[in-house]
Amino acid sequence: MKHLRICPKCHASLKLRPDGETQYCNICRYWTKLGTARLDSIMIYG
Ligand SMILES: [Zn+2]
Repeated sequence: MKHLRICPKCHASLKLRPDGETQYCNICRYWTKLGTARLDSIMIYG
């Protein structure tokens, strides 16, 4: 599964943790791991 930009639960924007591997929603506490797609995450957040 790839990274998400919008929370699948409440549709708010997901934040990226400083570890660069976890995205989280500060509204409903949803979170997901990015896996190993680091280059993709750089393209989105860089
Ligand atoms: Zn949410």
